[in-house]
Amino acid sequence: MKISKIIDKKKLLISFEIFPPKQEANFDSVMQTALDLGGLNPDFISVTYGAGGTTRSYTAELASSLQEKTQIPSLAHLTCVGSGFSDIQSIIRELKEKKIENVLALRGDYPQGADASDLPGDCAYASDLVRILKKEADFCIGGACYPEGHPESENRLEDLQHLQYKVDAGLDFLTTQMFFDNEVLYSFLYRMQSKGMKLPVFAGIMPVTNAKQIKRMITLSNAHMPQKLLAFVDRFQDNPGAMMQAGIAYATEQIIDLIANGIRGVHIYSMNKPDITAAIMHNISHIVEAVNAEAHV
Ligand code: FAD
Repeated sequence: MKISKIIDKKKLLISFEIFPPKQEANFDSVMQTALDLGGLNPDFISVTYGAGGTTRSYTAELASSLQEKTQIPSLAHLTCVGSGFSDIQSIIRELKEKKIENVLALRGDYPQGADASDLPGDCAYASDLVRILKKEADFCIGGACYPEGHPESENRLEDLQHLQYKVDAGLDFLTTQMFFDNEVLYSFLYRMQSKGMKLPVFAGIMPVTNAKQIKRMITLSNAHMPQKLLAFVDRFQDNPGAMMQAGIAYATEQIIDLIANGIRGVHIYSMNKPDITAAIMHNISHIVEAVNAEAHV
């Protein structure tokens, strides 16, 4: 099913992200992880795409097997840096054959030290990929957005202008980069909406349960870490059990606040850890049920 159809029907959607295996040998264990996540009853599960297409076949394969086995819609991520038009056409064919109806259209990142001039390809930006997807198929198309600005952008205003091009190219929804301070998201949504971008936004929530991993991710994403979060990472970083409890509690609190403030979608970066995602889902189960029981106009 197309995600846009679920958006039409429900007031609040919950989705998870999973990454595919790098090697065939790990496919079954990642499939099991995906099935465990599916057991938590999300509205859809997104499957990431390796930079430069390294996990290309596993993305489509995992997305389609998961959909077939659970009846939960999959969202296949697709990046376009370094891809020619014919490569993209062949991926589109594969996705259609595998009955994937939802695609997250991304530019992807250049290998370290490279830029657009080093890689041949027909797409400079995600908006180019959106245009191709619209022309060649009938997918529901999502895109990425950055509440704190994309790291390559000069400033947030410029980034917002670029986001507008991508939205105008035909996006159905947006998923945000991880953020840890809800005020940052609210300010971003306000700026987005004041530019006329009214499409549904899924707030990307990364549970912080592993200090090392999170420090690396924050360097990559530039996300601001509130003092409250830094305090527990500093205090519990050497105790995995304590880190996990604190991270689950922090993510839960973030999500409850987002839902209370009317967010349309919450996207949990599961990091292929169904137990952490399950604990968060348990903490918000009545809240999600209550919101979806309200009239949806
Ligand atoms: P774009 O929207 O193309 O933007 C990239 C940069 O170009 C921005 O700085 C933007 O301001 C600028 N820009 C855009 N349009 C123009 C224009 N017309 N003129 C000038 N500048 C412009 N990466 C993966 O490899 N695989 C994944 O599965 C994956 N999943 C992701 C999921 C989410 C929810 C998010 C937030 C990111 C994901 N990424 C993934 C990372 C993503 O590929 C990188 O953040 C990448 O650097 C930007 O991709 P984009 O689609 O946002 O690019």
